[in-house]
Amino acid sequence: MSKRDYYEILGVARDASAEQIKKAYRRLAMKNHPDRNPDDEEAEARFKEASEAYEVLSDEQKRAAYDRFGHEGVAGAGAAGGAGFGGFGDIFSDIFGGGMGGGRRPTRGADLRYDLELDLETAIAGDTVRIRIPTLEDCDHCDGDGAEPGSDKIRCGTCQGSGQVRMQQGFLAIQQTCPECRGRGTVINNPCMRCRGEGKRRSHKDLSVKVPPGVDNGDRIRLNGEGEPGEMGGPAGDLYVQINVKPHDIFVRDGDDLRCTVPVNITTAALGGEIDVPTLDGKVTLRIPAETQSGRVLRLRGKGVKSVRSATEGDLLCKVMVETPVNLTKRQKELLEELAESLDEGGGRHSPESASWLDRAKRFFEEHLG
Ligand SMILES: [Zn+2]
Ligand SMILES: [Zn+2]
Repeated sequence: MSKRDYYEILGVARDASAEQIKKAYRRLAMKNHPDRNPDDEEAEARFKEASEAYEVLSDEQKRAAYDRFGHEGVAGAGAAGGAGFGGFGDIFSDIFGGGMGGGRRPTRGADLRYDLELDLETAIAGDTVRIRIPTLEDCDHCDGDGAEPGSDKIRCGTCQGSGQVRMQQGFLAIQQTCPECRGRGTVINNPCMRCRGEGKRRSHKDLSVKVPPGVDNGDRIRLNGEGEPGEMGGPAGDLYVQINVKPHDIFVRDGDDLRCTVPVNITTAALGGEIDVPTLDGKVTLRIPAETQSGRVLRLRGKGVKSVRSATEGDLLCKVMVETPVNLTKRQKELLEELAESLDEGGGRHSPESASWLDRAKRFFEEHLG
């Protein structure tokens, strides 16, 4: 197959400047690009031809070799032999901008999320926590290139190096990242043995995360630039550390307040008294007023949480659960029976809840059941 002269293909003089060559190529590439000439094989052939000519003539060394030896001089390069179309991608995205060659533009890396489990105490007090996150690092054998060192990359035949392919869907033609080269525009002839052409290897990095005091479930701490690395020199994404607070044995957090349930025996509930309750900074004494009913909530001011967003501490809300005594001795049962008789004599006076409940039940029967 005889090849046309590269200068002739681009329509420039043999002494054309680099700028003239670039201009000529742009014009031809625009005119013959497969996107503008769908299903036109001739245009596609002209497009490839111009690309190949430009690949050689835009490279000083290759151009010199071509000038001296003709096509033979560059047979090892260009489309003939398979050396990289280095300059191709750049001018390509120059010409076609955002719509084309999308896979070859600098893109920001993806944001990553890390779920950090903390116990309640740590979430409230704050801490510096070491985390280990999985990362992909450039393969050290091929320097992230994916090609076995010393071997070459060749222009992707599926997308002709553009990194994009056209898909026909009914009447619509849509652009997609080339599945063959995944948008790189080049394919690897001889993949790196260590990373099998991925260019990356699995690794991890240790980061220390400063957890501010008062964080709660769902709070996120952003670590700038610790997400996935960008492509083609784009910036890295961010890492979001999402806080997940483990359930606590005693406390449930409710905004700035902490809640807990406190068992109180019947005599303390009836007569009043004091019991010890735990707080995050040690034991405190909770006063139980006389005649405290089960379910009553007693408030310990300032023994809650100072959240990351508030200036003051919340309260500790202690819900009283009056406990029925168990494992009674004979004597204790006698005492309770005596107590029961004595309470009965007083009628509803000693059982305000029961009295009011009985009233309501009575009303209900009268109104609804005649
Ligand atoms: Zn490698
Ligand atoms: Zn491709």
